[in-house]
Amino acid sequence: MKRDYALVFRGHRFCYEVQAVAKLFFPGERFLLCEDGTVPDCDYILTEIRDGSILRVRLHLQGKEMEREHISRNEQEYALCRMLFDMLVTMTGYQPPWGMLTGIRPVRKLVQAVDRGMTMEEAVADLRERYLVSEEKLHLARQCALVQMPMLPHSPKEIGVYVSIPFCPTRCSYCSFVSHSMETAARLIPAYVEKLVDEIRVTGEIIREYGLRVHSLYVGGGTPTAIPAKALQCVLAALSQEMDLSGCREYTVEAGRPDTIDREKLAVIRDAGVSRISVNPQTLQDSVLQAIGRRHTAQQAIEAFCLAREMGFDDINMDLIAGLPTDTYEGFADTLARVMSLCPDSITVHTLTVKRAAALYQKAYHENTAIAEVERMTALSASALPVHGYQPYYLYRQKNTLGNLENVGYAKSGKENLYNILIMDETQTILGVGCAASTKVVCPDGDITRIMNYKFPYEYIDRFVQMMEKKQELRKRLADMETRYAEK
Ligand code: SF4
Repeated sequence: MKRDYALVFRGHRFCYEVQAVAKLFFPGERFLLCEDGTVPDCDYILTEIRDGSILRVRLHLQGKEMEREHISRNEQEYALCRMLFDMLVTMTGYQPPWGMLTGIRPVRKLVQAVDRGMTMEEAVADLRERYLVSEEKLHLARQCALVQMPMLPHSPKEIGVYVSIPFCPTRCSYCSFVSHSMETAARLIPAYVEKLVDEIRVTGEIIREYGLRVHSLYVGGGTPTAIPAKALQCVLAALSQEMDLSGCREYTVEAGRPDTIDREKLAVIRDAGVSRISVNPQTLQDSVLQAIGRRHTAQQAIEAFCLAREMGFDDINMDLIAGLPTDTYEGFADTLARVMSLCPDSITVHTLTVKRAAALYQKAYHENTAIAEVERMTALSASALPVHGYQPYYLYRQKNTLGNLENVGYAKSGKENLYNILIMDETQTILGVGCAASTKVVCPDGDITRIMNYKFPYEYIDRFVQMMEKKQELRKRLADMETRYAEK
């Protein structure tokens, strides 16, 4: 049964932080925010600071009451959140695996601490003591940080490029991307590709003007292989013609949906010099594939992978999702074993987000059963994959994932995906091309300017003149970045 919860704030402005802690225990919940301090007629969490130093938290949840006070003049935001966290652990009996850490980049926290002069062990201890992260998650974050640190960029002139092709054969039920099914959007493809090629040309000019070097190139979406082979060829040809890819360390095309992969498209990708592809079954259980709105079978996913191998692709990733509707622990274990038997070069294990799993969520958080199952799935991945030579190398958290869990990339040594690391690390400039793509210009002090392209293909096509005006903004930001690096 879904409940209403309210957050009542008195005498402080840490509303966002308090809400983030509460969401660890009640993910997917929409809280009623009572910033005027009024207590409503429903379950609530009250946080208060009075007389400058008295911190009070009161819980009135599911028929239980708890109240504590603490005196503190320092770090009141942390102290209040810590009190709330401890009380919610006691009241619910649930200990979030990432503790109080609510950000999406735990590994970055370790890397930044080491950059500031801490040893890795000191940085790990800080996460343990300050944020109450579990030993299992500390170990995972530490492993990822150690793999990533030597791979991080050394020069601001090295950049990533992301190209968006936002079309898919059908829309998966859990999808949170801007992707359009071919049924509704196929007619937009010719105009979209034409504009995309124009944007690639202008982006190539900017890269040359500012002496930037493409370090990694990622063509994603959507599913780039959803569009016809000739259209895909046109996009990849524009990238090779307009950008100098001679120093590019990694060139990925997502061939995500197995039902979009055929010999002709794989040949187009291979001949364009792509070094890595992703074939993403998500699950190898046919009934689950049907339940999530995919129109391919497990066997098609296996055949697509084998075809890519036969055609010479020696760096293939496969994505899986733990917690898909109707999946079970046994189903996930079977999928994992079958995927590992194919020996892809990397396997990324995502955890479904709660808002995409409304039905599951109801069951999960009010009966605590499905969550335990998803935890078993991710624990199985963490134990089985290293035994088969896959080590964790990147992770990120999304808001509202089932069980506050994470998405983890596992790879064989030397097959770690650079772009995935860089997008999470946020220390490299990434130029986004295509609809819904975002550009991030990173300055020396870590200051980041973001420029968003239009979100939907029809907007991108219809407002292309304004899109090009955004390139002037990009030029200004790159000039500013150059100046700030020169002054450093
Ligand atoms: S394949 Fe990916 S991008 Fe396409 S609909 Fe499914 S989840 Fe969304």
